[in-house]
Amino acid sequence: MKIIRSPRAMTAWSEQLRREGVKIGLVPTMGALHEGHRALIRAARLRCDALVASIFVNPKQFGPQEDLAKYPRTISQDRALCKKEGVDICFEPTVEAMYPSGFQTMVTLPAIARRWEGEVRPHHFSGVATVVTKLFGIVRPQLALFGQKDFQQSVLVRQLVKDLNLGVEIVVHPTVREADGLAMSSRNIYLSSDDRIRAVTLYRGLQAGAEAIRRGVSDGASIQKTMIQTIRGEPALTIDYLSVCGPDTLEPLSAVTSRVVLLGAVRIESVRLIDNLLAAPPRRSS
Ligand code: AMP
Repeated sequence: MKIIRSPRAMTAWSEQLRREGVKIGLVPTMGALHEGHRALIRAARLRCDALVASIFVNPKQFGPQEDLAKYPRTISQDRALCKKEGVDICFEPTVEAMYPSGFQTMVTLPAIARRWEGEVRPHHFSGVATVVTKLFGIVRPQLALFGQKDFQQSVLVRQLVKDLNLGVEIVVHPTVREADGLAMSSRNIYLSSDDRIRAVTLYRGLQAGAEAIRRGVSDGASIQKTMIQTIRGEPALTIDYLSVCGPDTLEPLSAVTSRVVLLGAVRIESVRLIDNLLAAPPRRSS
């Protein structure tokens, strides 16, 4: 496995391989890799000839009060995981290389970024869209993998690729969970051992909502109430939002008639957790 830090060297490598007809896959990450990232890398490995994993803690997607400075950095373990999973290039650009002085352009998707994570983190999605556009421009992949864990982000990336004709196939990989159901996240290490046990209640709440939908409950407000009641059973959790949405628009639904996404975000002490589940109503028998 090769480590490349310079965007110019990264593009030169990709251009050479593209000329040879090689299919390049990209898994963008912020490092602190866990089993969720490993699953994305494995799935990408099966779909491309040459695999690039980027490790870049992108300052533009963190707000001023967020955890940029203390975001976990575990670069030697990350490199070992990438090497073991058959990554060809670990692309590790510096902040200065990605955002040199004079950098101006920001990519925004106002409708997708308006709600949910965008409401709590106003500049987050513009930072994400900008870095993804840059990574695609530098790495020139034909394929890129993202996790369902960050559902709103995956919707945004698909829209970005469509709107800007970026020509990258986007694959969204299902969320990888701990044994009790908690979605894996680089931020889970911030949880105390007691809060780690309590944190699974977010998933339980979403499951209760999904179960209601499968049983035939179609009223959006009732489904939301079911989720809220489950989560309120654990007083350590504060709800940021819980919603029943269209999976493409991310707009809240008053009635469930087809597949929906249940989106949730909670706080537990100073840690913010997000998760989601897809759910579909029972098929009507004719
Ligand atoms: P991050 O390093 O947190 O920016 O995540 C890099 C990629 O891994 C993103 O596409 C995430 O959605 C994805 N990811 C993070 N956690 C998980 C998980 N538990 N399961 C599946 N994908 C994940």
